[in-house]
Amino acid sequence: MRSAAARAGCVLLFSGGLDSTLCALHLAGEGLEVHGLSILHERRPAEEVRAARTLARGLPFASYHEVHLRGLAFGPPVDHPVARGRRASLEGVIAHRNLVFWSLAANRARAVGADAIAAGHTPDDARSYTDSARGFFRVLQRTLRDSGIRELGSLTVRLPLHERPAAHWRRMMHRHGPLLAATWSCWRDGRAPCGDCFACRQRERVAGRAIAHNGTKGGIDGAQRQRLRAR
Ligand SMILES: [Zn+2]
Repeated sequence: MRSAAARAGCVLLFSGGLDSTLCALHLAGEGLEVHGLSILHERRPAEEVRAARTLARGLPFASYHEVHLRGLAFGPPVDHPVARGRRASLEGVIAHRNLVFWSLAANRARAVGADAIAAGHTPDDARSYTDSARGFFRVLQRTLRDSGIRELGSLTVRLPLHERPAAHWRRMMHRHGPLLAATWSCWRDGRAPCGDCFACRQRERVAGRAIAHNGTKGGIDGAQRQRLRAR
């Protein structure tokens, strides 16, 4: 059991992208003990993994943990309409992705004694993907309650990017620009962001020129790391 003086904890699904990095900074700013959880799988861009590891060393994480879903990223269920005739192009897609990821976050929360689980889904995600929409989170919360495990049933599900207005995130981007330049948003596995995939275009739309998209080539310097650690 946590002592009364200990800080409340939150497990954050952390990809090394702009959205989850903003969430890490925001949750730490709330005074929470933030536990980063990175899910590795086939076809995840190597630069994104590298960015997540580099950023994890600079962010004020209480812990950083990686789970590897070896052999699971083989596409959606074969009877799913999007799967028909497109197997090769869908490698890297994980069936029921968010159910798997959030369940792993809940599992990790129990391991570290956190009270909340969080991810950087945007309001746009909720419009585009059924497993980022309100109905999905109702089911998730219900399955956690039905687990019969008290600590899982009482977990709070957090979507920070839904909780605060765009102006808040613009201020965060302005404040942490150099660090955020080291995040990686591109879906493609290139040495530099392609600038053309949905994620790159979305990043350009949200962050504009305020935040460079360098990946780890931008790096984070020692002084920045010190400042974040000192928060
Ligand atoms: Zn891209």
